[in-house]
Formats: sequence, C-alpha cells, structure tokens
Amino acid sequence: MPSTAIVWLRRDLRLSDQPALHHAAAHHDVVVPVFVFAPEEEADWQPGAASRWWLHHSLTTLAARLAKLGSPLIVRTGPSLAALRTLVKETGAEAAYWNRLYEPAVIARDARIKEAMRADGLKAESFNGAVLFEPWELKTGAGEPYRVYSPMFRAAEARFDGIRKPLPAPKKLAAPSMALESTAIEALKLLPTIPWDSGFYEHWHPGEKGALQRLEQFATKPIATYKDLRDQPALDGAVSGLSPHLHFGEISPHQCFVRARQAQHELASAGAHGNIHHFIKELFWREFSHHLIYHYPKTPTEPMYARFAAFPWRKSKHYASDLKAWQQGRTGIPIVDAGMRQLWVTGWLHNRVRMIVASLLTKNLLIPWQEGAAWFWDTLVDASLPQNTLGWQWAAGCGADAAPYFRIFNPVLQGEKFDAEGSYVRTWVPELATLPVKFIHKPWEAPSEVRRAAGIGLDSVYAKPIIELMASRDRALAAFAELKAGSAA
Ligand SMILES: Cc1cc2nc3c(=O)[nH]c(=O)nc-3n(C[C@H](O)[C@H](O)[C@H](O)COP(=O)(O)OP(=O)(O)OC[C@H]3O[C@@H](n4cnc5c(N)ncnc54)[C@H](O)[C@@H]3O)c2cc1C
Repeated sequence: MPSTAIVWLRRDLRLSDQPALHHAAAHHDVVVPVFVFAPEEEADWQPGAASRWWLHHSLTTLAARLAKLGSPLIVRTGPSLAALRTLVKETGAEAAYWNRLYEPAVIARDARIKEAMRADGLKAESFNGAVLFEPWELKTGAGEPYRVYSPMFRAAEARFDGIRKPLPAPKKLAAPSMALESTAIEALKLLPTIPWDSGFYEHWHPGEKGALQRLEQFATKPIATYKDLRDQPALDGAVSGLSPHLHFGEISPHQCFVRARQAQHELASAGAHGNIHHFIKELFWREFSHHLIYHYPKTPTEPMYARFAAFPWRKSKHYASDLKAWQQGRTGIPIVDAGMRQLWVTGWLHNRVRMIVASLLTKNLLIPWQEGAAWFWDTLVDASLPQNTLGWQWAAGCGADAAPYFRIFNPVLQGEKFDAEGSYVRTWVPELATLPVKFIHKPWEAPSEVRRAAGIGLDSVYAKPIIELMASRDRALAAFAELKAGSAA
C-alpha cells in the first residue's frame, strides 16, 4: 500500500519553495493536491471581486502545471473539514499538509481542522510558506509583540543570514490510482458576469510563471533604482508589481529576498551603483503587517489604539455622494482621480497614490477608514487583510507606526512632487491630457481661456473639487485636537 499525503493548497499557489508540497513529495509515495473553495470560512473577508478574478486564473495555471507533473489538482467546495475528510477516505491518505495563513478567522478554522484530523488518527502538519519570520518569532526586549516597524526591522536584520534558501519544486508527483472527482474551476464562478475586467488581462499574468518572470525582470534592473524612483507612479516597472503574486503565494517572500540579495552581488560585481536594501525594507512592511494582524486580530475593523474609536468622523448629507465620487475617481482632484481610476481599470494602485487617496478620504473628507478599506478589498487584485489593514490604519493615523496626525497629505503638492510632468494624471484622467503642466494638479486655478483651450468646461468635475483642501485640512486637525482633548479629560 503506497503512502499517500494530501496537500491542502490555499494562498500558496506555487510549486517551488512550497514547504507543504515539498514535505509531502519527500516523505510519501503519492501526493494529492487539493484546493477547497470555502470563502464563507473567511468570515467578513471573503475574497473581493478583483481577488476572485485573480484566483480563477491562478488556479487554472496551477492546475495545468500539476497535471504535467503527474498529480492533477483536485478542486472541491467547502466546508473545508468535510471536504478534506472525504478526500482522506477516498484516497486512504495518512497525512495532510498545508502552509500557514495568519488572518484571525483562518487561524481559528485551521486550528479546528488540525485538531479534528489528528483526532481522526491522521498526521496533520502545517508549515511556514508565507513569511520570512513567523509572527511569534520576533519580540521586543520586553517580550512583547512589536507595534513599531523600525525596531522590528532591526531585530530581523540581525537574523537575515539565517533565512532559509528557497526549496526546489518537485520534479514529478505520483497521483493516486483511483479516479477522483474534481469541480471545474469555472463552476466556482469566480469571474465577473459583467466584463469589467478587460483591463486586468493587459496588466497581469497570474500564476507562478508570471510571478517568477516579474521578479526576474525587476531584479535584473529596476531594483537598482528602486530607492530613487519608487515614489513616481508614472514610471511603469519602477516598483516590482509583485503584490498580487505574493498575496496568492505564487511566489514566496524567501524567493524575493534571496533574489534581491543576489541582485546586490550582481550589481557589485558589475561595478554598478544601486542598493537593494530599500526593497528588502519595503518587503518587510509585509512581514510587519502579518505580525500585527496575528497579535492584534481585531484591527481589520477596529483602530489599533482604542482612543481612536471615538474619532469624530464627519456626519454629512454629502457622505454617500462624496464616498461615491472618491470610489469612481470623480473628486475633481487630479492625482486622486487618476489613482482611483487606475485601481478600477487594473486592480492595482501605486503605493504613493494609495497613501494620497487614503489621506483624502480619511482626513479631508473625514470618512471612516473602514469604508476605504472595504472598497480596496473589493477592487484590489492584491487585497490582503494584513497589508490593507496596516495601510488604512496608518493613513488614518490610528494604527501602528501611523503617520503623525498633523501630516495630512496635500494632494496638489504630492502630485507636483511625485508626478512633476503630470504624466500619471494625463494617462488616467484623459480629459486633462492637454492641460499645461502648471495646472495639471490644480485645474481649478487655470484661467478660463486655458481651461477652454484644454476642453474643460465649467460644468465638468474639474470646475471645482468636491472638497476645499485647506479648510478640510484645518477641520481634520480640529477633529484630532477634539479627540486628544477627549482622551485627556
Ligand atoms: C491604504 C493602503 C492600502 C494597502 N493595501 C494593500 C493590500 O491590500 N495588499 C498589499 O499587498 N499591499 C497593500 N498596501 C501596501 C502597498 O501599497 C503595496 O504592497 C504596493 O503598492 C504593491 O506594489 P508592489 O508589489 O510594486 O510593491 P513594491 O514596492 O515592489 O514592494 C514589494 C512588496 O513589498 C510589500 N510592500 C511594499 N510596501 C508595502 C507596504 N507599505 N505595506 C505592506 N507591504 C508592502 C508588498 O508585498 C510588495 O509587493 C497598501 C498600502 C496603503 C497605503
């Protein structure tokens, strides 16, 4: 009787550096890779529409690769425990392996499943395939979890040499002898029925091959200039674009880390300038976000610091229309509208612009960060609970290592600094394409003859932004002062 293991695939949709798969292939004769679709088990954080699009394509490419390797992907629907138990019965498996995830609802589900499978007499083991450091590995001097990025990064840096090398992909996998039923990926209905996703196909190649190609492309050149160019949203390819691949585990952080270090050697031996350190530091924000969500599991909905729960968000009759204008990229503030339209068309948004649009929503419009996080959740292909939570709480000023409350981004100045020629705005807000550089980030200041020449009529969105930037900045500062006074009382 051959020894059989099930590998339960989740957001680790790759073959190389895949600890659970590697372990199964090394210790068992037969390996059964299974994906169980059970979005309801992710509680309030079921994958949004853009993530579902990605998942469809990622599963499709993985299924093709597994079939070539010898053991086809089995797709089942939840509940996960019942689906796994059925598969154990059908295959006579003696072990089940998976890689760990760190979102609160998933941790609870996985712990229940591990316990139940062990009670069934099965060997159930989980592995680390998603983070360089497990959330419990790094602690402050006082033995507490970190709440600030820099000391955690320093603690990690001292241990960088101990980060494991990526594991090779199995060369072949033996499938079980019996025929197993598998749900067609199309039957999961992950793709939209209204085709809003056409722009995604131009921008993305979901799957491990696309991920490795992107890493290679980035590490052979742009990584050297990353520190200097990473804040300019108009520069295609200045940042890695790896976030959705990392989120779905089509590539591991170990692979990114090791390739980046190799790039450093390549640069040095070519006598070229450039330092990859900044890229590693950004990659580490992802680590920090996983650390935070593990230790502070309520943060996807509640501010990290409880005093912010009393923040005086704006109660206004314009709330719904302002939120909609922000979502649709119709605020009349060019860099914000460019970002929100890029997000809609491509499912991704440049980090600098994520910060700008989040600041406008939470500070100038005083709309709760949870609204922004929910919109990003649905529209981002890289929507990740740890990272989205960290990003939004940071922007709103209520989370770990947050921007100081008095730092309220001025989107005009941000645009002039990081999109100096206005190319990013011209790409995503074509109605401003012919506006002179001087006014591209503040069209409302353009004299009427300039506006007329650029075809921006007085009735357009760009007649007037939905919010007056200076007055709303003062109002946000007053709201923070009110909160401070309230918590001091
Ligand atoms: C409001 C807000 C919401 C965000 N939501 C998400 C999200 O849902 N999913 C997500 O992956 N990132 C999120 N980020 C972080 C960041 O914007 C993206 O990771 C980055 O823009 C992805 O592009 P890239 O892969 O080219 O990044 P690169 O600059 O090439 O960085 C490499 C990798 O490091 C990680 N990383 C980089 N910057 C950050 C950061 N500030 N925080 C956490 N991880 C980082 C990402 O995994 C990224 O792929 C958010 C940021 C903000 C301000």
